[in-house]
Amino acid sequence: MKSRHCAAPLRSIALSLLLTTAAAAAHAQSFESPSPQAVATAGSTTAGGPFQFNGRTWVSQKAFVESGARCSTREVSEFEQRIAEMTAQSRRAERQQRGAPLSAAAAGGVTVPVYVHVISDGVAGAVPDSALAAQIQILTDAFATSGYTFQVMETTYTVNAAWYAMTPGSAAEQQAKQALRRGGADALNVYVAGIGGDLLGWATFPSDYAARPALDGVVVLNASLPGGSASPYNEGDTLVHEVGHWFGLFHTFQGRCTRANDRVSDTPAERSPAFGCPIGRDSCARQPGADPVTNFMDYSDDACMVEFSSGQQARMDAQFMAFRAPN
Ligand SMILES: [Zn+2]
Repeated sequence: MKSRHCAAPLRSIALSLLLTTAAAAAHAQSFESPSPQAVATAGSTTAGGPFQFNGRTWVSQKAFVESGARCSTREVSEFEQRIAEMTAQSRRAERQQRGAPLSAAAAGGVTVPVYVHVISDGVAGAVPDSALAAQIQILTDAFATSGYTFQVMETTYTVNAAWYAMTPGSAAEQQAKQALRRGGADALNVYVAGIGGDLLGWATFPSDYAARPALDGVVVLNASLPGGSASPYNEGDTLVHEVGHWFGLFHTFQGRCTRANDRVSDTPAERSPAFGCPIGRDSCARQPGADPVTNFMDYSDDACMVEFSSGQQARMDAQFMAFRAPN
């Protein structure tokens, strides 16, 4: 089990700036043992103070989070959500009619085939097997009570500088996925690369599959894997978060303080993404409950994210069965 320690040590701006070079060095060697200096740099999460991430200095962690780099999964409009819900309903009705299971429990559990694609540029991007194994274990643990397990079917290794630096919607993304993607709608394809734009990752939704099957999957920054250099986002929760999208979850702050919010009833409404670990924050005072900052679908530090709610698990199950179940 992970701890919920979230205390951010206060550091001087001068010290943070002096250590920028160490952070850049840590970035270049995403999986080397971090030096004490690099660790100190990565810990610069003081609210309002400069924030070092993956070799770059941001004005603050808030600025980094609000830039959208934390997750570039596209925002689904209200209109699109309604269409997707209607499609899901008709697919569930069709399944019911032919006696197909409507939940993982009814199916006796579901094993999701996983295809991992490690992309490097020939210099950076090698990911140790131990980091990949630890990452899959973290994903499995996060879904422990969901009825879903994950089985790695194949790990591919590709050297391609353009694909290594892909960004969402780019030609490089399309080319990489066209070439590498394996399996059907139920297959989780994970692309591990040095993605551009200071991004941590992005994913596609289950309801996107029919229109764009080749683009389906999850892309994560290699340094976000366990032991990588993307502190405080290097405990493997970026993949968990993106797989949450792949199963049909929205951010906990989707829809802000509206009642519909993220379409999950047991995740309290939230006005904006959280950063750090602000337990007790309540940004929608007129709606019940404090912000779900420990939820995998917020933007908190990895050490802070520990759960999917039962409502989210029910939504993921329903979405998978409607859009991804192979039979
Ligand atoms: Zn996200």
